[in-house]
Amino acid sequence: MDIYKQAAELLKKAKYTVALTGAGLSTESGIPDFRSSTGYYSNVIPEDALSQRRMYNEPKRFYSEGYKILKDLEGKKPNEGHKSLTKLQEIGKLNEIITQNIDDLHQQSGSVNVLPVHGDASIAHCESCDFEEKFQDFDERVQKGQIPPKCPNCGGLLRTNVVLFGDAMPTAFEKALSATEKADTMIVIGSSLRVMPVAYLPRQVEHLIIINKDMTPYDSTADVVIHESASKALNKIIRCLDE
Ligand code: NAD
Repeated sequence: MDIYKQAAELLKKAKYTVALTGAGLSTESGIPDFRSSTGYYSNVIPEDALSQRRMYNEPKRFYSEGYKILKDLEGKKPNEGHKSLTKLQEIGKLNEIITQNIDDLHQQSGSVNVLPVHGDASIAHCESCDFEEKFQDFDERVQKGQIPPKCPNCGGLLRTNVVLFGDAMPTAFEKALSATEKADTMIVIGSSLRVMPVAYLPRQVEHLIIINKDMTPYDSTADVVIHESASKALNKIIRCLDE
């Protein structure tokens, strides 16, 4: 049996399936990942540039360096890979999507039960009151030179809803732990599986399918490993499900 059929068989037999997605799923939407040869690590160190420490202590540097990664997400659209996951949900073969991505593309593609465990760049909030605004409005303040941006209601610090390095994990991560506990099958798509604590999740499931261009630390223990582009691999798996 080929690897696509094997993956399809696992999805057919599964009682509860979760997807765990990473930056590699969105490279086909024109958003660089972190660890590919053309990823952000080739010119910044994301752990510093997108850290809580940098945002608080060196806001000018934060908004001239790491913030560019958030600006790059503007106007991007879901690709065939995101659409395939939406289709898998529509045909009852995928229950929840745990995503490390901050680009909102699963939601834009119409997927449901999405758990953005590293937050969401499309929203900003005030650290002192319940004020929230869209990224475009937040960015207008930044582009006008209001650094750090201030809350129009209370004057508190406005910040992105992205989980920065050094931030606590959000409630979506607790939900991801519960989803993983319920699941017997996980399909990992476009993640190097190197960022903790998310990289711990694949250990919890009985059956693991990995779709990633490069090798991951879980390749040797997974049931099926497909080293290919996310959109092509998902498309082939869905065709096998239809057969
Ligand atoms: P990563 O950069 O560590 O790994 C991405 C993996 O995807 C690589 O191993 C690469 O081989 C693979 N890949 C690249 N393009 C692919 C494709 N078309 N099909 C299949 N595989 C492909 O990313 P990660 O594991 O998600 O972890 C790093 C962090 O990156 C996450 O915390 C995430 O928040 C952040 N991030 C998110 C975005 C986004 O929201 N789109 C973009 C950059 C970084």
